[in-house]
Amino acid sequence: MLKIEKKHSLTKYTTLKVSSTADYFAIVKNKNELLEAIAFARAKKQLIFILGGGSNVLLSKTIKGLVIKNEMQGIKVVEKNKSLVLVEASSGEIWSKFVSYTVENKFYGLENLFLIYGTVGAAPVQNIGAYGVELKDCFHHLSAIDLKTGNEKIFSANDCRFGYRDSIFKNKLKGRYFIYSVTVALLRKPDFKLGYGSIGEALKLKGIKKPTAYDVIKTIEEIRNSKLPNPFILPNAGSFFKNPEVNLQTFKNLFVKYPDMPSFQINRSKFKIPAGWLIEQAGLKGKKFGPVRMYEKQALILVNEGGASSKQVLNLVAKVKLAVKKKFGLDLSEEVNII
Ligand SMILES: Cc1cc2nc3c(=O)[nH]c(=O)nc-3n(C[C@H](O)[C@H](O)[C@H](O)COP(=O)(O)OP(=O)(O)OC[C@H]3O[C@@H](n4cnc5c(N)ncnc54)[C@H](O)[C@@H]3O)c2cc1C
Repeated sequence: MLKIEKKHSLTKYTTLKVSSTADYFAIVKNKNELLEAIAFARAKKQLIFILGGGSNVLLSKTIKGLVIKNEMQGIKVVEKNKSLVLVEASSGEIWSKFVSYTVENKFYGLENLFLIYGTVGAAPVQNIGAYGVELKDCFHHLSAIDLKTGNEKIFSANDCRFGYRDSIFKNKLKGRYFIYSVTVALLRKPDFKLGYGSIGEALKLKGIKKPTAYDVIKTIEEIRNSKLPNPFILPNAGSFFKNPEVNLQTFKNLFVKYPDMPSFQINRSKFKIPAGWLIEQAGLKGKKFGPVRMYEKQALILVNEGGASSKQVLNLVAKVKLAVKKKFGLDLSEEVNII
């Protein structure tokens, strides 16, 4: 029978480690336990909040309702032909473990997403992305359970409305579905994307001309470990803000004032400006406010030296947004889910 705890601390379940307590808490390992948890919440008229690896959330001091921590395991090949393979993973699988499985089995496409923290089930929620690849590039479909009715529904890529760190599960269907499994379509032959960031360069420096998938993930691991704080040593939730997208006119105006401003062109009329650069220019890189600061090696990451409250984090978030707005006239929006 499912164990449901009352007034349970969530602090150890998030990578940002702010203190938080759930009214009710349950760990689910299979579908029956999930349905039991949903029935409990319905009977007690409690809201449900789903927690994966807790690497993309800022939880408030008290979470009203039932927090369901997802630990559903299982990976299987569901279809295979000469060029493609469909692989399904249960949503509680650790994302990087899933990527390692695909690499070991010579299924190609997820390499650049190695070492993104958290679970498989959260990956479609914000369409995880790194080094020029997003989940949507390999996504096939997902199956989800409606938390209102308990019914199962299949979502195609189109249904998910993927965008930059975005999907329907962050908007119209926020909090409505429990993503149960995710199926990706992978290649049987490698087609690595090495042109983004420093992956190609790092491989060259190591003298690797024809990399294997293992070489690629190892290199990504080295690059990430050199740039990003390990959340298990210095608590953080990765990039706290999204890179703002601006139109051509705004881009031109900013470029005249700040000719050193880095940018990525998305299409003819849209540009992305790195939020880390904006925060640094606004003077907040490495500046400490009690136990929290924007990380000195990458200003986009908010770190907790220990013991920070969600209020202290939110105060710094507000300071950062205000400073960037004042200096550049741009609005930053949070990538992290504030609950
Ligand atoms: C150091 C560091 C580096 C990072 N780098 C990247 C990066 O390069 N690219 C990137 O995209 N992200 C990055 N992230 C963010 C994070 O790893 C991803 O967003 C990840 O997918 C979150 O997974 P999680 O299981 O921890 O989700 P959680 O934080 O537990 O949850 C995130 C959201 O998804 C919802 N959710 C979780 N599971 C389910 C489910 N089964 N069904 C429905 N909703 C669900 C939650 O309710 C919540 O709203 C990084 C984080 C850290 C700490």
